[in-house]
Amino acid sequence: MAKLLEGKPLAEKIKEDIRKQAASLKNKPVLASIMVGENAGAAAYVKSQAKTAESLGIEYRLQSLPQDTSESTLVELIRKFNSDSSVNGIIIQMPLPVNIDYKKISQFIEPGKDIEGMHPANIGRLLFGKAKLIPCTAASAMELINASGIDLYGKEAVIVGHSEIVGKPLALLLLDKFSTVTVCHIGTSKAGKLEEHVRRAEILIVAVGKAGLIKGEWVKEGSVVIDVGINRVADKIVGDVEFETAEKRASYITPVPGGVGPLTVTMLMRNLVEAAKSQQ
Ligand code: NDP
Repeated sequence: MAKLLEGKPLAEKIKEDIRKQAASLKNKPVLASIMVGENAGAAAYVKSQAKTAESLGIEYRLQSLPQDTSESTLVELIRKFNSDSSVNGIIIQMPLPVNIDYKKISQFIEPGKDIEGMHPANIGRLLFGKAKLIPCTAASAMELINASGIDLYGKEAVIVGHSEIVGKPLALLLLDKFSTVTVCHIGTSKAGKLEEHVRRAEILIVAVGKAGLIKGEWVKEGSVVIDVGINRVADKIVGDVEFETAEKRASYITPVPGGVGPLTVTMLMRNLVEAAKSQQ
């Protein structure tokens, strides 16, 4: 039976370090958060970010803009935060109204203040193995993998899902540790090859958003399984991996909820303090 890789205790440990680092800075670190329009999910996420920030000695400066905000107004606000030396990091809350293109807008954030690690300059640093600001969900998955104690060198790592926020940055992070990385996506599934890749994964990370996509019996005996997926099924939150069967085969597995989720806000705050340290 697999040991559970739980995010909360790990997050608490990392938070202790963030708190110490935040307190050692000359000025209290400041996170500027931009929310456009009203969205219950984003509002809940903002509340949790603000609470975490406060508990770590970080000032959370929220700027809410109306739903009909134009791209140029948003860019103006980003520029204002870029040039405000009291602001150390900027986050744009999702979802954005349909008239605003996140990929375009996020490139206006000064790379040193891009605490989501999504600016092309930061992705470029990731490619060279020199990133300081790593996309938060990918960083959370790496923390959990490391918590399992597995030696990544030469291991077969299989990632399912190739999004910019999870699969692609994780592939780079694992390559940097000399794992042999396979990235699966919709093409892999359509070619009927998902099962064969998953079956040889010594480290399996799944970030798709489809409940039960990964059958428990595909999971390799003794593997480490990180399930990033979040799906609501009959009023329950489940991941992408069939948990009950998978936990009988894996050596370590993340629960959903309670695995990757509780770590992502902590990774955001770690990036913020990292950014503040570089700036100060
Ligand atoms: P995206 O929708 O951006 O990416 C999903 C990926 O899965 C795509 O690469 C897609 O490929 C691939 N995919 C879709 N269907 C299949 C299939 N049948 N077989 C193999 N691959 C497939 O999602 P995100 O990366 O943003 O999020 C993924 C999941 O992780 C979601 O459930 C999300 O809620 C969760 N999540 C959890 C977080 C946490 O903190 N725990 C944070 C962020 C996300 P293609 O593009 O080619 O179709």
